[in-house]
Amino acid sequence: MEAHREAMNSRPAYDSSPTSTDTGRSQLRAAGLRATKQRVAVLSAVRYHPHSTAEQLLHVVRHDLPEITVQSIYVVISSLVSCGLVRKLDLPESPARYEMEGHDNHHHAVCRYCGRIEDVPCPVGQAPCLHPESDQAMTIEVAEVIYLAVCDDCAQQHSQ
Ligand SMILES: [Zn+2]
Ligand SMILES: [Zn+2]
Repeated sequence: MEAHREAMNSRPAYDSSPTSTDTGRSQLRAAGLRATKQRVAVLSAVRYHPHSTAEQLLHVVRHDLPEITVQSIYVVISSLVSCGLVRKLDLPESPARYEMEGHDNHHHAVCRYCGRIEDVPCPVGQAPCLHPESDQAMTIEVAEVIYLAVCDDCAQQHSQ
């Protein structure tokens, strides 16, 4: 767990290397979107900073595109979400967060104290992974599972 966190912290603030932007460009084209500078930058920011809010993505993208506005960040993000490249997360008491869509239906564990978010693999791997006893004349498409947790750091602090 500790090693994982260190790896996150030592990541570059932003990856605008040719490899990363090339991957982004071809993903955008495959999804039927024009590979604009803004889309490539936002996609790369989402890839390197999973579970970020729009505000955080704006901060990252401004390294390369200082002129980008809050409005255009929202427009770009919503185009990336609707074409299926980016997944939007609605977690309790949090603005929307974004990550790359990996089609693995993974869930999230959220620390109730510091808000740290970690991926939790889905035991089934595809939606819906939970089926109610009675379906109320509804076809269940997705079960949103959020694990409310205490992270190791917070557990230690609270036990001191
Ligand atoms: Zn915590
Ligand atoms: Zn995730």
